Amino acid sequence: MSKMRFMQVTQPKGPFELVERDIPQPGAGQVRIKVQACGICHSDSLVKEGALPGIQYPRVPGHEVAGVIDSIGAGVVGWSEGQRAGVGWHGGYCGHCKACRRGHFFACELGQITGITYDGGYADYMVAHWTALAPIPDELSPTEAGPLVCAGVTTFNSLRNSGAQPNDLVAVLGLGGLGHLGVQYAVKMGFNTVAIARGSDKAAFASQLGAQHYIDSQAQDVAPELQKMGGAKVILATVTNAQAMTATLGGLAENGKLVVLGAPAEPLAVSAGLLITGSRSVAGWDSGTSVDSEDTLSFSKLTGVRAMTEVYPLERVTEAYERMMSGKARFRVVLTMGQ
Ligand SMILES: [Zn+2]
Ligand SMILES: [Zn+2]
Repeated sequence: MSKMRFMQVTQPKGPFELVERDIPQPGAGQVRIKVQACGICHSDSLVKEGALPGIQYPRVPGHEVAGVIDSIGAGVVGWSEGQRAGVGWHGGYCGHCKACRRGHFFACELGQITGITYDGGYADYMVAHWTALAPIPDELSPTEAGPLVCAGVTTFNSLRNSGAQPNDLVAVLGLGGLGHLGVQYAVKMGFNTVAIARGSDKAAFASQLGAQHYIDSQAQDVAPELQKMGGAKVILATVTNAQAMTATLGGLAENGKLVVLGAPAEPLAVSAGLLITGSRSVAGWDSGTSVDSEDTLSFSKLTGVRAMTEVYPLERVTEAYERMMSGKARFRVVLTMGQ
């Protein structure tokens, strides 16, 4: 039997270890994917640093997978060998728990997360349940598709479900891995888009991404600046700084909503009066399921939205991971399997 390479973490804070083993066979309801590219997401640090209780080690991280299906398990309908498929954070759903029966597949009580509850895409091959698969359009390369099934779907799906309408003022807080995609999607959805970041040097980049406005949060007060523009219908918070998030709240229009995507360690301090008087709200958004990833890939194909990436071969995963963790990558780091 032929072997495959995979990069595993055997214990919290342990190194990546390159291991070879037999290529796995897909079980019932599963497919095997020959991985072509896998993005490195900040959430992979949950596995690497052991920040999430209950992870079983050794574990292969990776939930920004783009590849080709090369074997189909029993009972899989609608997928065939040779078809391109992406697998994101949402690792599949059961279809029969209470959340699934209500159509809330993202909240499936089985809670399968790719690269966390089962082995992910830092490998030549991986196995996934068919409910985790999104077809990849021909127009997108593997390194383009990978980041879009996590960072992409998170920003695209939260914006399209935010309640904002074309021409509404929508602000994106942060211009990093999530934010640079959020700005592009907001523009392409027809929102009057404001990018908010630290420093005047990012204004040109925001404009390059299509943003109509830029607020430098180091030099300007974000809330009054947003109010001068009429107030934001939605603020998409992609940063992990709780104070930076709450500093924007006064910039919400009536019925405006702060949508939280980044996860600060500390709680958000929110003025109840501000929420009550303008019927404003603070909400979170879970990224999305495979059909949301499918829509994200399709919309990105149609509109030209792409993540900016830095690409590394699988063997250089340690360097690539450290680059991502440094916060200096522009803007998503992607592994390729070189086959
Ligand atoms: Zn992710
Ligand atoms: Zn379920």
